[in-house]
Amino acid sequence: MVAKHSQMRDTNTHSIFECIVEHGPLTKADIKKYTGLSWGSVSNITANLIDRGIIRQYKDNDASVGRIPNLLDIFVRENLLIGVDLHIAEGITVLITDLRYRILNRVNMSVTKNNRESVLQSLNTAINFAISNSEVSRSTILGIGVALQGTVDAEKGISAYSPYCEDWENVPVADILTREFSVPTVVDHDPRCMAMAEMVLGKAQNTGSLVFLRMSQGIGMSIVLDGEVYRGFNGSDAEIGHICVVADGDECVCGNKGCLELYAGAKGIINRAKLRTSSIHEDSGMDIKGTDDNIDFDDITALARSGDEFLRGLFTDAGRYLGESLSVVVNLLNPELIILGGMMVPSADLFLPETLSVMRKRVWKGSTMDVRLSSLGNNATALGAAVIAGRKLLKEGFFHPPYQIYNDLL
Ligand SMILES: [Zn+2]
Repeated sequence: MVAKHSQMRDTNTHSIFECIVEHGPLTKADIKKYTGLSWGSVSNITANLIDRGIIRQYKDNDASVGRIPNLLDIFVRENLLIGVDLHIAEGITVLITDLRYRILNRVNMSVTKNNRESVLQSLNTAINFAISNSEVSRSTILGIGVALQGTVDAEKGISAYSPYCEDWENVPVADILTREFSVPTVVDHDPRCMAMAEMVLGKAQNTGSLVFLRMSQGIGMSIVLDGEVYRGFNGSDAEIGHICVVADGDECVCGNKGCLELYAGAKGIINRAKLRTSSIHEDSGMDIKGTDDNIDFDDITALARSGDEFLRGLFTDAGRYLGESLSVVVNLLNPELIILGGMMVPSADLFLPETLSVMRKRVWKGSTMDVRLSSLGNNATALGAAVIAGRKLLKEGFFHPPYQIYNDLL
């Protein structure tokens, strides 16, 4: 009986806290309306949350008539999260956010060496720098979320495999950071984090089923079904970037040949652009090699837009292969919405029309085909990692002292 009472109290405390995070500042009457709890429960639980320094109460001075109501809100500056995007090619992005995922500080550091020790050291340095380079007190950090490339076992907090790092196998990233920063840490696959960011803050709010693609150096994907992130049997789901689109095509970092990301990812497009410029170099005998090696994705985008037919053709090919692969995804899953995010989004005008044209021909009749571009920009992944940490915090209540509401209140 006692256990049941405690459990109920735990659940009610959680729903009130979540309600204030989502909708606050609120009056007690508002909280009663949102949660459906009794007046007594709302009064007792909010009083305890105030005593514990988790929420605060203040007068609504903007109220123009009648009795001035008391408003309740979280202590925004006392409850912070860290979201990290650990990306070998694009660098480590660290965000410090509040529980409403408003960004208080951002740091991006490049990864110069990709062996295990160096990557973990860079991760540590970037997080420490983000904290020390802000006005945030270390004691206000409640948890850390980390977005990782490769195969991730989110439940165990392990990065199982990354094709972009050396001697990187079953690395317990969550445990390492929990020890280092003394706060709970969660990890997840980077496209899953981006999908979460879209569900909570972006274009997929109130969407039940979503397919999210990270169009970056490679191509990652995440599937959300009935509001839940799909994780496959062992976390190796949704590897659209490694679907074979060209039989006996180029060799891929994954060990297979002809994978989608070699033709439709930014790195693949850069490599193909370099092949062309190398052949010009050989034909003309001109020494333009230095320029070729330094060509980047923005250069290629700009040249394609200015009418370079070869480079435009690379984007059209990318769009076609992407459209073929996405048609299969739509025919299998019938998602409500597809969102494309990542560094290739600003170049979408060069490949998306072809993608949509192919999809219109290939998808099953009657299937929905709503493809949109992410508007969350280059913070999306780290923001999504913060969202995952924040949701876990709300679900499991991992508050550090003095915010241990669950233990102390029961
Ligand atoms: Zn591959």
